[in-house]
Amino acid sequence: MPYVTTEFTVNSPDQMQELGRRLAKLLRPGDLVMLTGELGAGKTTLTRGLGEGLGVRGAVTSPTFVIARVHPSLGDGPPLVHVDAYRLGGGLDEMEDLDLDVSLTDSVIVVEWGEGKVEELTEERLHVFIHRAVGDTTDEVRHVTLRGVGERWAAVDLSVLSA
Ligand code: ADP
Ligand code: MG
Repeated sequence: MPYVTTEFTVNSPDQMQELGRRLAKLLRPGDLVMLTGELGAGKTTLTRGLGEGLGVRGAVTSPTFVIARVHPSLGDGPPLVHVDAYRLGGGLDEMEDLDLDVSLTDSVIVVEWGEGKVEELTEERLHVFIHRAVGDTTDEVRHVTLRGVGERWAAVDLSVLSA
């Protein structure tokens, strides 16, 4: 499977949200975005920006007490399906069992803690890895790595996101 990778630094929560808003402009219905990073890395903050960029209803918050939350578009864009797979024991079967009121192929799906659980949802996906910067005393600096997997992403210039 072909893939493209780009890396950059994010210096604040605001910048992380801005990254989400920019990334939203590249996303299409059916896209799967997998967010990896420890607790407090900024996965939900990034997703909040995605929701703003997509123009969806409802505040994006940490979906810790529900597995998935659907944010319908306020316009004619795709809904955002925000999944916290942390407590999703199995994988794909349970995703189907979420019984969401939307079609995943019509939605943008963002999954926190989805490694090993949701890859089978789509052949192509965008992985976002977020790491705290070592030795950063402000605890606001994050290294972000984006990896697009599949033909869908081979043609996308992810470096525009770091502008
Ligand atoms: P996660 O979903 O990965 O557990 P959250 O986005 O819920 O993380 O929380 C990240 C926390 O870290 C927030 O309190 C946010 O204000 C803080 N933070 C500090 N710097 C950053 C940054 N550069 N990007 C994102 N969040 C940051
Ligand atoms: Mg979170």
